Amino acid sequence: MADAQPTHDIEAVFRGKGIPFTRQRRLIWGYFAGADRAATIGEAAEALRGDGVGQATVYRTVTLLGDLGLLARVQDGRGEICFIAPPIGHSHPLICGVCRRVVRFDGDGDVADLEARLAATTGFSIYGHHLEVYGICPECRAAREGDHGE
Ligand SMILES: [Zn+2]
Ligand SMILES: [Zn+2]
Repeated sequence: MADAQPTHDIEAVFRGKGIPFTRQRRLIWGYFAGADRAATIGEAAEALRGDGVGQATVYRTVTLLGDLGLLARVQDGRGEICFIAPPIGHSHPLICGVCRRVVRFDGDGDVADLEARLAATTGFSIYGHHLEVYGICPECRAAREGDHGE
């Protein structure tokens, strides 16, 4: 699935739960799913104001999408709570703590050694993991280097 575009059948998730997939919910999901960086609820509300979506609706919907596993909560370098569309298959997000750009990487076998060690030392049967990696992207690093001496 190397070239597969990330997609989530979000309508099926809503249908399966018997929750209406309204125009506003579609817009809010679309905002996060189409973003190449993590965004706060406030930023989503700002972007969607022209579409007549209020901040309270954005807040409630983001919470709902999170509960349904359709948005993942991450933090930026200042500890601000942001949201991204969740990983597809076994992939994980690498997030720039400065500009919040998100790069997804294939997680195949990533923590196999750790899981094997944990299974051996704890006796757990391990079936999964949750992983986010944080760093500073090349553009933000270059910008910082240009700044020094201030
Ligand atoms: Zn950056
Ligand atoms: Zn992984």
